[in-house]
Amino acid sequence: MDRPRLATVWLGGCSGCHMSFLDLDESLLELAQKVDLVFSPIVDIKEYPHNVDACLVEGAVCNEEHLETAHKIRERTRYVISFGDCAVTGNVSAIRNQLGPRGVENVLQRAYIESADLNQEFPVEPGIVPTLLERVMPLHEVIHVDLYLPGCPPPAPRIKSFLLQLLEGKDPVLTGADIKFG
Ligand code: SF4
Repeated sequence: MDRPRLATVWLGGCSGCHMSFLDLDESLLELAQKVDLVFSPIVDIKEYPHNVDACLVEGAVCNEEHLETAHKIRERTRYVISFGDCAVTGNVSAIRNQLGPRGVENVLQRAYIESADLNQEFPVEPGIVPTLLERVMPLHEVIHVDLYLPGCPPPAPRIKSFLLQLLEGKDPVLTGADIKFG
């Protein structure tokens, strides 16, 4: 029988959720015997594949590239999982929303002009830096999300329990701060 196809994606987050995933340590070996990891920042595959059974999506939707990726994930994935508080609520990534209508301009000014010692200029070549969206959004504002795994980051034992239940064909039963919507 084919093994379930698992993906993990990193959108607008600090990578801390993926670090927590790696904190599964030896449990990663157990997981590796049960799934095929078909796409992830930790494997060298460039194009998100078709027929993915479950995808953990870290981070909020902050730019046009994230938007495109989120839709591609939705089209090609059975269970989309909002992985960590940035995906679930916007969290740290959404702080710039508080800067109001000039938030994008202020962020670019800070990053490319005020903080630069050399070459103080905005990137001008198209495609070098994805265009920022006016507002950072949690994943479910952009696509339908099937399951939520909150935490900043979600602790490794919670990730393990969640994935093992999913692999057993159950809806993950989450405890404590975990929440499952809809
Ligand atoms: Fe980083 Fe926390 Fe956001 Fe995960 S939820 S990407 S650990 S800030």
